[in-house]
This record gives sequence, C-alpha cells and structure tokens, in this order.
Amino acid sequence: MLANRMSRLGTETAFEVLARAKAMEAQGRDVVHLEIGEPDFDTPANIREAGKKAIDDGFTHYGPSAGMLNTREVFSEFITKDRGIEVGPENIVVTPGAKPILFFTILALVNKGDEVVYPNPGFPIYESVINFVGATPVPIPLREEKAFSFDLDEMRSVVNDKTKLIIINSPQNPTGGVLTSEDMKGIAELAEKHDAYILSDEVYSKMVYDGKHVSIYDYPEVFDRVILLEGHSKTYAMTGWRLGYASMNPELAAQIAKIQTNSNSCTAAFTQVAGMEALTGPQDESLKMMAEFKARRDLIVDGLNDLPGFSCLKPKGAFYVFPNITGTGKKSKELEEFLLDEAGVAGLSGTSFGEYGEGYLRFSYANSQENLRKALDMIRKVL
Ligand code: PLP
Repeated sequence: MLANRMSRLGTETAFEVLARAKAMEAQGRDVVHLEIGEPDFDTPANIREAGKKAIDDGFTHYGPSAGMLNTREVFSEFITKDRGIEVGPENIVVTPGAKPILFFTILALVNKGDEVVYPNPGFPIYESVINFVGATPVPIPLREEKAFSFDLDEMRSVVNDKTKLIIINSPQNPTGGVLTSEDMKGIAELAEKHDAYILSDEVYSKMVYDGKHVSIYDYPEVFDRVILLEGHSKTYAMTGWRLGYASMNPELAAQIAKIQTNSNSCTAAFTQVAGMEALTGPQDESLKMMAEFKARRDLIVDGLNDLPGFSCLKPKGAFYVFPNITGTGKKSKELEEFLLDEAGVAGLSGTSFGEYGEGYLRFSYANSQENLRKALDMIRKVL
C-alpha cells in the first residue's frame, strides 16, 4: 500500500504522449515529434569537450551538496552580470537539472494548508508538487487576450496572507508568453505586502525573441524573498547532463543544500565543469540555436494561422506555440489524439498544463523546419 501522498503526485503528460508516439513508430508509422520540450541540437562542442576532459581529470567524485565552490562562483558571476545584481557563491545552489529546485523550494518553504499561487496553464510539476506537500494550489489563469500574461487585478485578488509562495515563469512554458516589467513589479509588491516568497522560473531567460528578458531581480527590494531558477538544459541543449541552479538568500540556500544532501547528495562534478564552460566559453553555438528557433517560430506561427479552426499568437519567448483551437470544434485532448492517430503529429493538449489550457494545443518547435512543414501539411490534410 502506497503512502497517501502518492495519490496527490501528478506527472508530465509529455512523457506519456512521447511513449505512445514511439509505440506507433515501432509499428512502422511516421510521427513528427512536437510534444517534448527539448532542443533538438547537440550540446555545443566546447561544452562536450570540457565534460569529457573533466571525466579524465578525475571530476568523478562526490562534491559539496550546494555545488563546487568554483562552479558557484562562475554561476553567481553570470547572474551578477546578466541580471545586474550582486550575488556570490553563498547565494547559489547547483542541482541535477532545474526540476529539483522546484521540488526542494516547495519542500523547504511550504506547509500543509499554505496557499501557493502558480500559473495555469503552466509547467505541470508546479501543481503536482504543491499538491504533494498538502498545500492548496491557487491557479492564476494566463489569458490569451493578455498575450498569455496574467491579469494583475486577478493576481491581487488571489494573493493574501495565507499565500506562502508565488510561482512565476517567464518566458513561459507552455504558452511562450513573457511577463512585462509592470507584471513583475506587481508581483514584487504583492509578495512584500503579504510576506510571501517568489519562485521565479527563468529557465528560458536566453530565449527571448523580441526585446529584453524581464527578471524578478529587476526588483532588488524583494531579493531576500526570491528564488531565481536558472539552468543549462534549454540554453545549451544540455537536458541529459542534468544541470540547473538557483540564486536565493544564503540562509535558504543552506537549507536547500541540506535537502540535496538528503536526496541527490550533489550534482555530478564533470557536469558542473561542463556547465562552467557553457557560461564562460564562446556563445556562438547557443546564439545560432536561438536564431534558428526564431525562424522556426515564424514558420510555425504562420503555418498554424493558415489552418482552418486554428489561431496562434506569436510567442515572445521559449520554443513553444500555444494555438487556440476552439474553431476546430474539438476539445483539446480529443484534437491531440486525433492529430497523433490521423496525421502522425504529436502535440500536447493544453489541458496537460492545467484546466485553463482547454481550447489550446502546445507544439514544441524544437524540430527542423522541414519537419515543421511536414507536420503542418499533415495536419491540413486531416482537418
Ligand atoms: N521549468 C520549466 C518551465 C520547464 O519547462 C522545464 C523543463 O521542461 C524545467 C523547469 C526543468 O528543466 P530541467 O530539465 O533542467 O530539469
């Protein structure tokens, strides 16, 4: 018999759809994969070389739970330069991927019965972990008419003195929306007023296509109540290396590191060495990837807007599109299944990201322009 809490743990349906699509391929069907949120590029060569050398140099042992000191120095220098705010190694915790930061932050801060505000549609792990710890998930709807930001008045109406944590994510998965300076300022003021923490998931910070990334660190007055999450998975195509980190006040960093001692022990040392090369080495391959993502975004948005029943905003960041599909007359889940079965195109129902995702699909455009064109053609045929 499982512990009660297991009934409250959710999952990421992207992995389920991927498994179904793979099973179809095993039976000889052709499938275009637009379901999984992972860059299709290889990790840049300089980073791979640094990782290989680190293994040969003996970076194959346990290390400090918070991350190696020089890794934390390099990561904090990056945050200082990139976000324009002074942080040091004592502020940084390095984890195997960015996901543990979400899990550990909620474990460390949120009690049973506390309220946690989170974006909906949003990365499904937020709601899953909030439920897991017995807290009350309070969704803040992201609105298409606000380019998939939230309504600040609506946000003000849900944050109260029971709110322990506000989770924000910009650029956003699954909508590609970004928060404005006004949104960020509003969040900072609310957190201050109600003594809440802010978990700012900025894992797509380098994937902003128009304008500059707006960070919660633009509001240094809330520094002590912020956990700023960053990671290498998306920017440097390093999903399988497992490398993420966060910046926060040093007292909280020590507690998060303690959870790491109790779970992963530490992040693989050679991965950390590769991660330092990623931030300090040449950026040209990463920038090339971003330029390609932008071209693909334009291609898929134009293509989707040409399909009957679809309308699609041009996302400002990340590598997802979130078309409105209400014009097809189908529910999101039904359309997800129809497109996979009939067109061989794997996408995700908007409802995989929460109840406010009904009426939408998510396609990841981390796939070649050729495959994106093929997917659009196949969808057009079956519609
Ligand atoms: N946060 C968001 C919004 C994501 O989309 C993802 C991955 O899809 C993560 C965090 C987790 O990233 P990682 O693979 O580094 O654990």
